[in-house]
Amino acid sequence: MALKSNFHTHTKRCCHADGTEAEYAAEAFEKKLDILGFSDHAPFRDTDYGYRMQYKELPEYVEAVQAECERYAGKMRILSGLEIEYLPRYIDYYEYLLNDLKLDYLALGEHFFDVNGRVFNVFFSESTEDFILYAKAISEALKTKYFSFLAHPDIMFLNYLAWDKNCDRACEIIVDAAAQTDIPVEYNANGIRRGKQEFPDGLRDPYPHPKFWSMAKDAGLKVLVGSDCHCPSQIYDRSMQSAIRMANSLGLNVIYEI
Ligand SMILES: [Zn+2]
Ligand SMILES: [Zn+2]
Repeated sequence: MALKSNFHTHTKRCCHADGTEAEYAAEAFEKKLDILGFSDHAPFRDTDYGYRMQYKELPEYVEAVQAECERYAGKMRILSGLEIEYLPRYIDYYEYLLNDLKLDYLALGEHFFDVNGRVFNVFFSESTEDFILYAKAISEALKTKYFSFLAHPDIMFLNYLAWDKNCDRACEIIVDAAAQTDIPVEYNANGIRRGKQEFPDGLRDPYPHPKFWSMAKDAGLKVLVGSDCHCPSQIYDRSMQSAIRMANSLGLNVIYEI
């Protein structure tokens, strides 16, 4: 039987979620998860990019996850991670998080990205040309090998922009990079949780986008289903269960461990 796992878990530290590490762990145990990975939004040392814990809170977060790891030792595996953006200027920081702080993993959650030193936010894309820049930033990030998986690889499609050849090209760049580096991509349940909306290409979830996943399937990418929960009850809720069902029924190469 497949393992029950989730590697995409936030906590109230990020200021837009509810629940302590202990509450998420208790809910995961209640739902009989084999593996729970914490991946709250990473702070950066020099800049507060918002929607995340303060840098000074980082040691406390790591300790709190460690405490849950010990509490459930032998019953449920708990991993410490962060969801983090890639900007080339922070290379030393990724090294620090993995080698000194000894986090179990970093998930690439590219909400903003660097283009020649300027920071762009994917949520405010003005044209589908921005998607190409976004995809190139992801491709560069994956090649650094700091990241264990790519969270919501198709999150750009929450923008109300009509599908065009730039969208195809952006998907292609991301899929190629994941294939070349053998890094799993995440089928994200939070996109389903957001609910169907009317987009220029029809009524659909903001993400996962079927066109991206058909390309991911053709490339045989490893696929992790992530809850991206922002309150404890979402850890293995209906959206997470339907994401697992959908990923499997699309014939994706679903994996349950990283
Ligand atoms: Zn994210
Ligand atoms: Zn997230």
